[in-house]
Amino acid sequence: MSFIPTARATGLNPHRRSHQPKRNRFWEHVHKTETCWLWTGMQNDKGYGQFGKITAHRRSAQLAGLELPSRYHVHHTCGVKLCVRPDHLMVVSPTEHRTLHPSRIPLICTHGHDLTGHNLKLKANGYWICRECDRLRKKRSRRRTLSSFQSG
Ligand SMILES: [Zn+2]
Ligand SMILES: [Zn+2]
Ligand SMILES: [Zn+2]
Repeated sequence: MSFIPTARATGLNPHRRSHQPKRNRFWEHVHKTETCWLWTGMQNDKGYGQFGKITAHRRSAQLAGLELPSRYHVHHTCGVKLCVRPDHLMVVSPTEHRTLHPSRIPLICTHGHDLTGHNLKLKANGYWICRECDRLRKKRSRRRTLSSFQSG
């Protein structure tokens, strides 16, 4: 991987407020209550705070210096989706995270596949996929393409 700096990335454009550190921009969107620190900025479709390309609580964990491998999830110990208070956050593996939210992901998918082992694919953004359904879906779409060739 090579990184080629552009004018944008190096902040050479004088009209851009690049001198303002990202850290401050983040905290501008946080409302601190006595318990949780609530994110007041953008939200994603799952109700989590969004800061640029990542969730606000994930960014907060990074800013707090928590060790956060890209595959790992950030769990709210307080259960408040918009909370970004570092001591309410916990870095967990996708598997650990699943056991912390037993009701969020079913044990069996809508097509009856087992979701307790390898068949469950967890993504860092909180979404999950049934590998078997995913495989069947891909197979089906291939077959559809093929049959349309045959009939046409
Ligand atoms: Zn909290
Ligand atoms: Zn969680
Ligand atoms: Zn399935």
